[in-house]
Amino acid sequence: MKYIFVTGGVVSSLGKGLAAAALGTLLEHRGLKVLMQKFDPYLNVDPGTMSPFQHGEVYVLDDGAETDLDLGHYERFTSGKLSKLNNLTSGQVYETVIKKERRGDYLGSTVQVIPHVTDEIKNRLYESTENTDANVIITEIGGTTGDIEGMPFLEALRQFKDEVGHENVVFVHATLIPYIKAAEELKTKPTQQSVAALRGIGIAPDVLVCRSEFPLDDDVRRKLAMFCNVPVEAVVPFLDIKGTIYEAPLKMYEQKLDQIVCDRLELETDEIDLLDWRNMVDRIVNPTHTVRIAVVGKYIELQDAYKSIYESLTHAGAANDTAVEILRVSSDDIEEKGPEEVLEGIHGILIPGGFGDRGIEGKVKAVQYARENSIPFFGICLGMQIATIEFARNVCGHKKANSTEFNEKTPDPVICILEEQKEVTEKGASMRLGTWETKLKKGSQAQKLYGTTKVNERHRHRYEFNHDYKSEFEKNGLQLVGTSPDGTLGEIVELKDHPFYIGVQFHPEFQSKPTAPHPLFKGFVAASLEARE
Ligand code: GLN
Repeated sequence: MKYIFVTGGVVSSLGKGLAAAALGTLLEHRGLKVLMQKFDPYLNVDPGTMSPFQHGEVYVLDDGAETDLDLGHYERFTSGKLSKLNNLTSGQVYETVIKKERRGDYLGSTVQVIPHVTDEIKNRLYESTENTDANVIITEIGGTTGDIEGMPFLEALRQFKDEVGHENVVFVHATLIPYIKAAEELKTKPTQQSVAALRGIGIAPDVLVCRSEFPLDDDVRRKLAMFCNVPVEAVVPFLDIKGTIYEAPLKMYEQKLDQIVCDRLELETDEIDLLDWRNMVDRIVNPTHTVRIAVVGKYIELQDAYKSIYESLTHAGAANDTAVEILRVSSDDIEEKGPEEVLEGIHGILIPGGFGDRGIEGKVKAVQYARENSIPFFGICLGMQIATIEFARNVCGHKKANSTEFNEKTPDPVICILEEQKEVTEKGASMRLGTWETKLKKGSQAQKLYGTTKVNERHRHRYEFNHDYKSEFEKNGLQLVGTSPDGTLGEIVELKDHPFYIGVQFHPEFQSKPTAPHPLFKGFVAASLEARE
C-alpha cells in the first residue's frame, strides 16, 4: 500500500481537494486502484448538522455517511465508492477516545493528545487500509497548516510515516503563491513559512502544488525548491482554470505530477491513457448549444451550497452537447418580484433540497410557473415536496396544503414526517440516509430515462409524500411513479402531459459523474434544450 497525504498551506479554499482529486484521476488512469479520503480537523462528528453557510453542501455516501463536499469531488474524479471510514473528523476521534476512557480501556493512564488521540487517528488510517482493495490511498487533510485543530493529525501522520516506511509515503503540500500588484511579483514567502511550519512538526513535503494566478517563472520555481527543500520539478504550478474544473487532471498531467509521485513511491504503472477524460473535457468546453436553467434555492449566493447539483448539470450538458448556463435564483426574490420577472427567458427550472420554512413560498410560485407554462421542471428532495404542495394547493384546491415541516397544523399535510422519524430526538445522523431502492412504474418518463425498473439512489430526509392524497393527485394528473420496494414510501412524482416534470425524494446529484451523467439530469437538460427550440 502506498500513501499520499495532501496538506494545505497559507490559505483555505485554494483548491486542495481539487488537486487531490486530479491526482487521483491521473493515478487511476495509470491503472492503479485508488482510494480517496479526507480528514477534517473540526470538532463536529460530521458536517450533517452544519449550516450551508459554514460548510457548503453535505455530501451523502451510499452507506448514509454525511460527509464533506470534497468527497463529492473524489467520487466524481475517480471510480472508487467511498464509505463512512473515508471522512474522519476530530469529533469522531475524540468521541472514540472518550468512550474508551469511560469504558476503562486506558485504565491507569492520563489520556493525552499524544499518544491517545494520535493513536486513534492512526487506527483509523489502518482501518481504511484494511477495508479496501486499493493500492494507493490519497488522504487530504482539511484546514491549513498551523491551525491548532490540525496539529494532532499532522503529528499522527509523522508517526505513521515511520511505521509504514518513508518509501511508501508522499506528502503533497498545496499552497498559494500570491501576486503582489505593486511589486509586480509572485511572492514565495508565505509558502516558505508554511513549509517551515510543516518541517517543524517533522513533515518534509515532497511535492508543492502551487496555486497561482500567473505562471511561475524559473526563478520562482528555483527559489521555492531551494527554500522548501524539494527538487525543482516537484514545484508544480496549479494555475486558475478558466474552462472547467475537469481540466485539472490534464493540467496536472502537463506538469508531470503523477510521474513525480510515482517515481517517488517507486510505483510501476501502465502507460497513462487520458483519452476518455480529454473527450469529456472537450465536450464540456466546446458545446454546440446552450440552455439557461434556473436553480431556485435559499443559499444561492454560496458557491458550494448546491455543488453536486451544479456539477450534475454540467455533466448532463456535456452529454447533450450543450452548455448549461445556470441562473442562481433566490426563492425570496421570486416571492418579492414574482416568477414572471425573475424567471423570464429560462428553459428549465430546478429546485434542490433544503430545510426550514424560509423561501418556501417563492419555490411554490416557481413550480406553479413551470407547471402552467410547460417549462421543464426537476424537483429534488425538498423540490419534490414543494411540487406536491403546489399541486395540492393550485390543482386540487387544498389552499392550505403544506408539509408539516413548515406548518404542523396544516389541514392538508400532503408531506408529513416519516413514521420512523417520529421518535427521533437527536439531530445528528438521524435522517433517512443513504442508498435505498426505488421501484419504478413501467412506461413512466423516469423509468424510460433510467431504462430499468429498479434503481438505487441516495437519500437524506425526514419528511415524505403522504399516501392519503395519492389517488386524488393521480386523478388530477400527478402520478406517483416511484416508490420503495414495498410501496410504502413515495420516491418519484411525475406530471402527465408536460414536457418534463419530475420530482424525486432522493438525491440523484450524488451519483452523477462527468464520464457517466445521471439519466434524470440528462433527460432534464435534453427537455430544456427542446423547450428552448
Ligand atoms: N426538509 C425536507 C425533509 O427533511 C427535505 C430534505 C432535503 O431536501 N434534503 O424531508
